[in-house]
Amino acid sequence: MSDSLQQNNLGAGSRRLTVVALDDNPDDLELLRVYLKALPRWEIDFYPFHFDSPRSRLPPGDPDIIFIDHQLGMETGFSGLQKIRNSGIGSPVILITGHSDEKVAVEAIRAGVSDYIEKQSLSTEGLDRAITNSLEKQKLQVEIQRQREELQKSNRDLIRKNDQIRNFYHTISHELKTPLTSALEFISLTLEGQAGPVTATQKEYLEIAKDSCRQIGAHVNDLLDMTRLETGKLSVSPHPAQFEPVLLRILPMLLHQATEAELNLRCDIQPDLPNVMIDEEKVIRVLSNLVNNAVKFTRAGGEIKVSAGLLEVPAPCVEVCVRDTGRGIVAEELENIFDPLFQVRKSDTVTMGGLGLGLSICKEIVRQHGGEIRVESEWKKGSAFFFTLPVAGPEERMEILVVDDDELTQDAMKRVLEREGYRATTVEGGKKALQTLENFTPNLVLLDMHMPEMNGPRTLKEIKKYWPHLPVVIMTSNPRSELVEEALSLSPVTLLAKPCKRQQLLDTVRGILEPPEVHRKEV
Ligand code: ADP
Repeated sequence: MSDSLQQNNLGAGSRRLTVVALDDNPDDLELLRVYLKALPRWEIDFYPFHFDSPRSRLPPGDPDIIFIDHQLGMETGFSGLQKIRNSGIGSPVILITGHSDEKVAVEAIRAGVSDYIEKQSLSTEGLDRAITNSLEKQKLQVEIQRQREELQKSNRDLIRKNDQIRNFYHTISHELKTPLTSALEFISLTLEGQAGPVTATQKEYLEIAKDSCRQIGAHVNDLLDMTRLETGKLSVSPHPAQFEPVLLRILPMLLHQATEAELNLRCDIQPDLPNVMIDEEKVIRVLSNLVNNAVKFTRAGGEIKVSAGLLEVPAPCVEVCVRDTGRGIVAEELENIFDPLFQVRKSDTVTMGGLGLGLSICKEIVRQHGGEIRVESEWKKGSAFFFTLPVAGPEERMEILVVDDDELTQDAMKRVLEREGYRATTVEGGKKALQTLENFTPNLVLLDMHMPEMNGPRTLKEIKKYWPHLPVVIMTSNPRSELVEEALSLSPVTLLAKPCKRQQLLDTVRGILEPPEVHRKEV
């Protein structure tokens, strides 16, 4: 017994402690009681406890400390500890071991005991230290738990507020879109002279108003996409297609922008690129955003180059690059460039009216295509944005939707097209075609004109309204009919006479889906 056991003079700072001790050996329990009573800083209410003893009793509330013997007859101290915890008692537990074994100590701490002491070196100092440590740890744990709960609560609050802000953005973007579309429509009508003659000055002012509306429209679209992105609703539906026609579709617009800004725009597309898996509208969004930025941040006289080439490793993909000779981006800003709301401020105060959303939207679109986006840039020298699009596998075939009420025609076309490697879906009418388009976007639609219920022109009108860039081929046995005239007035479409020869059908389809080499000249 240590000397300190002799002195039991409770000091001014003494505290009353309820202690429960679990041990199957009454002598050990008695020894522990004597030592505890000898502690100078604590006044101990001691509750020796034995699972099998009828004389054992427990204090009314949770004890301040629990001592538990490592060997409890049939049980180990660990299973005893588990029982204590399972019954909802959170008091700190000190393990008493019969031997000095580091493994037991580590195991004990892992199992959740606050401290451990060895029976053979029991001393008042050791007990005092273990009790003080355990109570201190307990206090810290309570505090950590309190802070964790507080943090969880503020996290929940933040998520709720974030949701509210996101919903608000979504609602106002939608609310802005409708009047904006109508404003644009009326400006266009006025410009066309539908409201009376327009003077040159009025025309000039209206064009400015139209440009401003378009700019607001672009911001509104960014906001809508951002909210869709955050709610996981910005989804892409990739299908096999050529990259080049996608670029060709927006090239006139890009050229117009570049010319306005007195920039030279060049394209260099590697010939014979394989089909890529793309959602054309979304890839157009990425391309135009990158070129828009290049135009914004490059001084007059500079150059923008859009190029695309095949990369074989790590997996076959087409890499597209938009390179400019503009102001560039300083190295430390590059890291965050694709973060939402990020705008380079340090290097240049001019953010050119953007919202800082474009690149993050591009990143998400490219990611959803299974590609990657990255940037290389040097301050004052220019930037190059690269993104990859995975090459379509042989099993990923171009899709054609055949809309015809005649079953025989449907079957014949399906057979011809599928033998040629296309995937063909057939539907018997306009309504069914529109329902099908809601679920997947084919590469091409072959549309009959004379159909009951919803005829060709009505179907075409709906298709052009919601899928304006989807190529449609009109099939008709009477090219001079009123229906064909009506269809042609709606949009420029390709005509195919019915019945048509196999080769004629395939040439028409190929001409649209796989443009010949002559279109691939450098612009
Ligand atoms: P914003 O709509 O504001 O342009 P983006 O996400 O498209 O937002 O771009 C974020 C920021 O990245 C821009 O504010 C600009 O500072 C920088 N940036 C993007 N593209 C270029 C570029 N081609 N040259 C220089 N800086 C660029």
